[in-house]
Amino acid sequence: MALYRDEAVVLRTQKLGEADRIVTLLTRHHGRVRAVAKGVRRTSSRFGSRVEPFMHVDLQLAEGRTLDVITQVETLDAYAGRLGNDYGAYTCGTSMLESADRLVGEDGHPAAQQYLLLVGALRALADRRHPSGLILDSFLLRSLAIAGYAPSFDTCARCGLAGPHRAFNPGAGGMLCADCRLPGSDNPAPETVRLLAALLSGLWPQAEASGDRARREASGLVAAYLQWHLERGLRSLDYVDR
Ligand SMILES: [Zn+2]
Repeated sequence: MALYRDEAVVLRTQKLGEADRIVTLLTRHHGRVRAVAKGVRRTSSRFGSRVEPFMHVDLQLAEGRTLDVITQVETLDAYAGRLGNDYGAYTCGTSMLESADRLVGEDGHPAAQQYLLLVGALRALADRRHPSGLILDSFLLRSLAIAGYAPSFDTCARCGLAGPHRAFNPGAGGMLCADCRLPGSDNPAPETVRLLAALLSGLWPQAEASGDRARREASGLVAAYLQWHLERGLRSLDYVDR
């Protein structure tokens, strides 16, 4: 059996048989990987606690015929423990894991940018570097952009006319000018549009200067945009307090 090493964040786990789990990982070099962790539901397991959601690990895997098998795991960081007492931060983190699971496509395709984005966002969340909701919305926008769904918050998403514009339409790719405006578009406040642009670019001083109303409106538009591109929304977003 060929062995390989990689770094990964554990996105989710499912029970398998009596004592095993299938672990979904976002790895640095091998994209999204589903692997078997044997015996981890036994209390005697040496690495059961290291293959739980939110764990950032260095691991060795053996290539299997259908699923690879985890043979060694070392902890790099335990984000669940660092988020544990903060329900708001924890639910934001859960949405990040679910979104990464959905946005990173076929197993085996490298997704280093998505991996680095997720690790950076979890670390920012665990370090309480910015308000949790802003970290989540910035992560979602940037992850969508990496996946090829970059929203436009300045120029018109259809004709490219320089903004600022008033209408927002998820299906059209972002802001629309007066000529391109589609029925059913939202009309977010200008402050909200500036916040969305700052979150997409990672301009934190600008993002943190925003007011609560703009943050709430921005979160709703990010959720709508994500839902449009994922076809069905993230279940975990319902638990994020906005
Ligand atoms: Zn236009």
